[in-house]
Amino acid sequence: MIAVMRKAPGVGLAAPQIGVPLKIIVLEDTKEYISYARKEEIEAQDRRPFDLLVILNPKLRNLSDKKAIFFEGCLSVEGFRAAVERYLEVEVSGLGQDGQPIKLEARGWQARILQHECDHLDGILYVDKMVKRTFRTVENLELPLPVGCPPLGVS
Ligand SMILES: [Zn+2]
Repeated sequence: MIAVMRKAPGVGLAAPQIGVPLKIIVLEDTKEYISYARKEEIEAQDRRPFDLLVILNPKLRNLSDKKAIFFEGCLSVEGFRAAVERYLEVEVSGLGQDGQPIKLEARGWQARILQHECDHLDGILYVDKMVKRTFRTVENLELPLPVGCPPLGVS
């Protein structure tokens, strides 16, 4: 899973995405990946690098009711993006790669990745949760949001 995620490249992968019927997620964000994003975007999304995380049977708990809406994509829905509302601060617990219990708090973009990957384990794709009428190709990412659409950012 780690090799597939890195080869894609992506910042996260869930086992069902590659046909493995287990509750395993891997995620990682690097200085290099972040360097490809725009500075304003990185700040707004609260995106910071973090080391590789492997979590078995992850369980999420939101740490506050704060939410944010940003565009996200998925390796299983290649070439598209949509705006999705996610919790800003979550706690994830589960087992690590070595089988030992782990628990950590995540915020910003890392919290978003965790929610996205855990959704995969329940058969949910971001398109099931997207803000309606925001689905678009990567080429059209910068087009204006539809009228009546909630603004991007932290609500
Ligand atoms: Zn995905």
